[in-house]
Amino acid sequence: MSRPRQLQSTSVPDRYAQRFQTVKREFQQLEYFCKGTLLKRMMKCGKAQCACRHDPAKRHGPYFEWTYKAKGKTVNVKLTRDVMPLFRAASRQYRKLRSLLNRLETLSQTVLRHQAKLAQSADRD
Ligand SMILES: [Zn+2]
Repeated sequence: MSRPRQLQSTSVPDRYAQRFQTVKREFQQLEYFCKGTLLKRMMKCGKAQCACRHDPAKRHGPYFEWTYKAKGKTVNVKLTRDVMPLFRAASRQYRKLRSLLNRLETLSQTVLRHQAKLAQSADRD
């Protein structure tokens, strides 16, 4: 893996570079993550005789489902109660991923804006 040549790397504030490395390491500690929504629902079975038809408290379930969008389509995955802890953890990992990504983005913007400014002032000399 070749590293891209760093422009004026000595003038970039070191603390931003360090923070960037720290967040990158946190990225590597991520576990499986899932985007989307975890649903828990109670269902009516459709049988005419069944109490669930009129009494919301007698509906069947709970049934769990994971819903997410892929290529513009909604995907539904049925889940059992057993796997719910895994999916709740994966959901938290996804929020962590987003937060780490935002931090990397902010740090990148800061450093790159700094580089752009340096390049401009070098132009004027
Ligand atoms: Zn029923």
